[in-house]
Amino acid sequence: MVDNECTLCPRECKVNRDIVAGYCGCDNKIRVARAALHFWEEPCISGEKGSGTVFFSGCNLRCCYCQNYTLSHQRFGKEVSSERLGEIFLELQDKGANNINLVTPTHYVDKIIKVLDNIRKDLKIPVVYNCGGYEKINTIKMLKDYVDIFLHDIKYYDNERAFKYSSAPDYFKHSSEAVNEMIRITGNPIIKDGIMKKGVIIRHLVLPGGKEDSMSILNWINHNLKKDSYILSLMNQYTPYYKSIEHPEINRRLTTYEYEKVLNYAIELGLTNGYMQERSSAKKEYTPEFDLTGV
Ligand code: SF4
Repeated sequence: MVDNECTLCPRECKVNRDIVAGYCGCDNKIRVARAALHFWEEPCISGEKGSGTVFFSGCNLRCCYCQNYTLSHQRFGKEVSSERLGEIFLELQDKGANNINLVTPTHYVDKIIKVLDNIRKDLKIPVVYNCGGYEKINTIKMLKDYVDIFLHDIKYYDNERAFKYSSAPDYFKHSSEAVNEMIRITGNPIIKDGIMKKGVIIRHLVLPGGKEDSMSILNWINHNLKKDSYILSLMNQYTPYYKSIEHPEINRRLTTYEYEKVLNYAIELGLTNGYMQERSSAKKEYTPEFDLTGV
């Protein structure tokens, strides 16, 4: 951020968000759609007590198939003050949450840091940065003393696919650079009694018609990251939402063959430190009701 020109993410809109919103759809007011215990993240994040998940409105990536499109594209949510956001974090901690899970936080990083500074002495649980992967290194560096766990997507290797589905042709460049910085910040994953305390989880959602792209991502991970420096979460829960109807090739569920092809390739490469989803996990229940609960 220079002279109020927002450059928090690779879009680099350079707008003054005191006056207008950028590509993410958000001005400088924090908006939240839901804050509640969530049980559908990876087991080391949700555990039995749940992850204290805060769903922010708006998004800097806005994939055409987003399952949370009412938030990301339509910006459903309620404006909250910095003070209220701090209270929300502490209320989730009081409810027994394993962590504070910030969902789509990129466009609010500067504000979240101030909130975490304000409640630093009272917040005892890890903070999770749960993003779509379209991140800038400089923004990730800002999180060094604030975030313990990164849930980082690597969605695309191919620039054309990244452009077609997320209008972000430089997605892989930024996502791959960011994951290296995240690992540098957190160090290798630390899990105690089944619950993650520090580290990076790399998520990849296999898309219909995208198994070759998924395998390119696995190749990159294999050649560029140390195997013990991250946990891999290979997801098959794709369900066609929102504007996927405009792209017939992704307007369907993933087939068992497609997912198993990618899964077997991961196993072949020895990328077995992580989570592989069962076919039955492709359900709409993964998407909670966005009804301002806890806000
Ligand atoms: S955070 Fe929003 S306004 Fe800032 S650069 Fe990214 S898309 Fe643009």
